Amino acid sequence: MKSHTKVAVIGGGVVGCSVLYHLTKAGWKDVTLIERAELTSGSTWHAAGGFHTLNSDPNVAKLQAYTVGLYKEIEEISGQSCGLHLTGGLQLADTPERLDWLKMAHARGRYLGMETEIISAAEAKTLMPLIDESYFVGALWDPIEGHLDPYGTTHAYAKAARMAGAEIVLHTRVTELTQNAGGTWKVVTEQGTIEAEHVVNCGGLWAREIGRMVGLELPVLAMEHHYILTEDMPEVADVVATTGKEVVHAIDFSGEIYTRQERQGLLLGTYEKEATPWSPKETPWDFGQDLLEPNLDRIAPSLEIGFKHFPALEKTGIRRIVNGPFTFAPDGNPLVGPVKGLKNFWCACAVMAGFSQGGGVGLALANWMVEGDPGFDVWAMDVARFGDWATLGYTNAKVRENYSRRFRIRFPNEELPAARPMQTTALYDKMIAQGAVMGDSWGLETPLWFAPKGVEPKDVVSFRRSNDFPHVKAECRAVRERVGVTEIANFAKYSITGPGAEAFLSRIMTNRMPRTGRIVLTPMLNETGKLIGDFTIAKAGEERFMMWGSSQAQIYHMRWFERHLPLDKSVVIKPLGMSLVGLSIAGPKARDVLAKVTDDDVSGAAFRFLDFRETHLASVPVMVNRVTYTGDLGYEIWVAPEYQRRLYEKLMEAGEEFSIANFGMRALLSLRLEKNWPTWFRELRPIYGPYEADVGRFVDLKKNDFIGREKAAEEKESGGKLRRVTFAVDADDADVLGDEPIWHDGKVVGWVTSGGYAHYVERSLAQGYVPKELLADGAEFEIEIIGERRKAAIEPEPIFDPEGARMRG
Ligand SMILES: Cc1cc2nc3c(=O)[nH]c(=O)nc-3n(C[C@H](O)[C@H](O)[C@H](O)COP(=O)(O)OP(=O)(O)OC[C@H]3O[C@@H](n4cnc5c(N)ncnc54)[C@H](O)[C@@H]3O)c2cc1C
Repeated sequence: MKSHTKVAVIGGGVVGCSVLYHLTKAGWKDVTLIERAELTSGSTWHAAGGFHTLNSDPNVAKLQAYTVGLYKEIEEISGQSCGLHLTGGLQLADTPERLDWLKMAHARGRYLGMETEIISAAEAKTLMPLIDESYFVGALWDPIEGHLDPYGTTHAYAKAARMAGAEIVLHTRVTELTQNAGGTWKVVTEQGTIEAEHVVNCGGLWAREIGRMVGLELPVLAMEHHYILTEDMPEVADVVATTGKEVVHAIDFSGEIYTRQERQGLLLGTYEKEATPWSPKETPWDFGQDLLEPNLDRIAPSLEIGFKHFPALEKTGIRRIVNGPFTFAPDGNPLVGPVKGLKNFWCACAVMAGFSQGGGVGLALANWMVEGDPGFDVWAMDVARFGDWATLGYTNAKVRENYSRRFRIRFPNEELPAARPMQTTALYDKMIAQGAVMGDSWGLETPLWFAPKGVEPKDVVSFRRSNDFPHVKAECRAVRERVGVTEIANFAKYSITGPGAEAFLSRIMTNRMPRTGRIVLTPMLNETGKLIGDFTIAKAGEERFMMWGSSQAQIYHMRWFERHLPLDKSVVIKPLGMSLVGLSIAGPKARDVLAKVTDDDVSGAAFRFLDFRETHLASVPVMVNRVTYTGDLGYEIWVAPEYQRRLYEKLMEAGEEFSIANFGMRALLSLRLEKNWPTWFRELRPIYGPYEADVGRFVDLKKNDFIGREKAAEEKESGGKLRRVTFAVDADDADVLGDEPIWHDGKVVGWVTSGGYAHYVERSLAQGYVPKELLADGAEFEIEIIGERRKAAIEPEPIFDPEGARMRG
């Protein structure tokens, strides 16, 4: 083993080998993979080897499509076969809801260029003669599905990487990691120490242990997973003889099973409801190419369904049962990217579908390391998406929940119960007592809507408008016609102080910083001029700023801020987490409510739109922003958590004469729709530029230089490619949810980012991106909602208060 390397990749499973290959492909040749045993010695060797492109996140689906397309390339380069079987696959729907879900997946696939098809149960039977079609109502056919040889594939990546100059060190365990003062790493192994500029954790089953070497507790857990291999089946031989092809893959959602041909029999795997973690606290180092004791009782309920739905199985013997562990993050997506606070320490772990995702993960990570940017929208798998609340216990509960629901539908209005409540504010019990239906907002319980007396505070899950509809409408009306109050503790909050604070913010944000006592709204761009943040910033004092952003992106943003902080320590940026919580009051009577809890002059002239104040309300020390996301006259009031309860009670008392009402996140999101306002991670993502996203008015190209300025100027000049627009949709009982295709002239030309019912203006609205050329000619559009194309007309101006008179008033 050499003494120095640019990158030490720890772990020679399919993911580590893909990362190694992609690093060499991106031009870094001095890279070393260190493997404890032989390649594939974690979960890789006993995988069923299935691959597919469908994923509920279109950005992950894109990376999966890349992975599947890559196998030919690595076979050609390495001369090592991946053992590809591209059979195509069926996803079988047993209920109309599941078929709706498949129709939506099919629609999403359209703008990704995927050629899936929705077919009848009878057509499914023709493609897969082994099913009893009477159990199904339809299916989705995906031609780009199949399976491969896990061993051959991993070796193909490894060989291709070696041919490009990479080194692979086997039978060498990494035992310790320490960082040198300059930021390089001492990688201590059983065979000596190697100095590395970068370290990548591809430890698979041991990713958690490698994380612990650097003080990280990664939210990752291994689960036991079974598949069975049957004896040879004459029915399989028949299919092969009559079709001349292998039996296609099939997923049967009701049985939680997947199946494919293996030799002349079938392989059948299951994500059973009785999900069982493996080694929940620590993975033993002496676990090698081992399997776990099978437990047929645990998978029996799924097998019974399998025997009914695939009748030939019942007559067949089981040749072998495999029970092996593999890892998951709490939401089932990988953990990829640089780790905040640890220079040059990278993760590529919790990859639960290594053969669908491993290539995309390797590509994104290599881009990120070499170019400074993953080159794709990888938020869904960014290691930064979990906060401190994703503890060992949380991860255990969520991974078990996610595993047992792997083939279950997650409805758009469905909140999952595991590991909740995790964080609550002081108002939690009060909100519940008033009928709040709570949602999980980055680990924090947040009111979604309020059930009036006599109505059960519970969501009826659906793809269509549901039981919350009249109640959210009432909340929206309360805001627009009187005054409403909502909790906003779930925003991210930061303080930025020090002599360099203003210069720092001016350098990373696109808008000019405000004068003391004023607020600006500002996007943040990366070097390529794409949107990586959207903030509200107030200047609280000479060297003191307050900033609010998206809670989900706190770690993601802190990682960026830390990277750009000046080395002279002239700036201190502190995420305030739950040490600052908030309430927002909004509506035409909001000022009257405010006036009743303060002696300050809060008239429109004295306390203007976009003013910031530090003051007392109801004797409570607060910060007040004269701005709200409702687009109405309103205030965001920020307090220390110990004062929140008093503040809420006093606001409710003051608001009584105006019939103040609680409103939740769903009303807030509905109200912003009728203002055409975007949301972070839906409309604003790192694949769009600020002019495309229609937030160009918050980009000041004339102020000082800032990150992404040059690219932003180019985009302004060219107009970019896309444009974010709002559509009024001719909807029936279902509104858009996000990711629906937008049609024009018989072709899919764009996609929906978010939308829903705008209750106050009583319109179904959708926001999305379309090529900017299409906006000129009053073009006609359609949006596909659950398999039906609905007329959609562009609304160039906000339907509610286009002049903004209400919020400025
Ligand atoms: C029964 C079963 C069926 C599956 N079926 C499929 C399927 O059909 N399709 C699919 O896509 N996926 C499937 N999977 C999941 C798939 O196996 C994983 O997604 C994939 O193997 C993850 O690869 P990895 O490289 O991240 O981790 P691993 O394969 O666990 O590799 C990690 C490697 O790191 C090494 N290592 C760890 N710590 C150290 C250290 N300190 N020093 C040196 N080396 C170290 C280990 O020895 C190991 O080789 C299945 C898994 C199981 C168990």
